[in-house]
Amino acid sequence: MKKSLVSTLCLFFLICLVAASCAQGSYAQVYDTNDDAGKLTARFINMITDTGDKSGDATILTSPDGKVMLIDAGDPAAAGQVVAALQEMGITHIDFLVASHPHVDHIGGFPAVMQAFEIGQVMTSYIVYPTVYYDAYMAEITAQDLEHVYLSRGDVFAFGDDVTVEVLWPESEIAYYDGYPQSSTQFVNNLSLAMKFTYGESKMLFSGDLYSSAERELVALYGDLLDCDVLKANHHGDSTSSCKPFREAVSPQITVMISDILSDLNTYKKFVKDGSTVYITHYNGNVKVSTIGDGTYQVLAEQAWEFGF
Ligand SMILES: [Zn+2]
Repeated sequence: MKKSLVSTLCLFFLICLVAASCAQGSYAQVYDTNDDAGKLTARFINMITDTGDKSGDATILTSPDGKVMLIDAGDPAAAGQVVAALQEMGITHIDFLVASHPHVDHIGGFPAVMQAFEIGQVMTSYIVYPTVYYDAYMAEITAQDLEHVYLSRGDVFAFGDDVTVEVLWPESEIAYYDGYPQSSTQFVNNLSLAMKFTYGESKMLFSGDLYSSAERELVALYGDLLDCDVLKANHHGDSTSSCKPFREAVSPQITVMISDILSDLNTYKKFVKDGSTVYITHYNGNVKVSTIGDGTYQVLAEQAWEFGF
């Protein structure tokens, strides 16, 4: 009896704790920047296409001193939603425009973003991927004479005065196989940029569409150094990714899946069972995660969706 009372009280406090750290807010509130000073903030854009194509990934990061980074810009059909989100924040200048990897659902929106905003630097890995979408954004870099910075494993750069970004993956040398880019989906996904953001005690990890095979390589290379509080789930939360060794090494408090189509909720369930609080843009809408650098986080999601199981 006493034990069950203790359990009930624990559950009650746990619910209060979760309720205190996650709030529900409108689109305008998610993209309101009035509270951003002094915080590292990630805004995960909920994109929807009416073409049937995957809408892709796009995340806006802002540093405590107001620098702006956009990691990926969605499919071309979702580019308007990325531009709208940035405009809602009052942004006119993007300091770092980062391509995790050159698949259309990540870089398809780049030309539209490059035309709508002033770009400081474009950052990509060294991968060459001859497709119309890759060619389109490379042509836009040339047309605007933008600074193009190539990132690879071991690079470290500053995101404003207070945030350090470590590039964990991939290598600068890309070992293309005969016949590339035929049948290269997994090959290209496995060369996604993996970047760890550190602000004081707070850590966030973004690693594009890595599959489990590349995740295991990261675990072998870095082990517990992958430990982060906030993780953008690889490959939109698909079961190709988020293998157990990677989940254990990262052990995120908060996991966000940017996805408009989920084939199943298996990966979601695995993260929840691991103890992570998981958000899926398709269900939670646009999601904002911010921290003052003390290892605690405030989350604002448009919808308070949570799968019961
Ligand atoms: Zn993708």
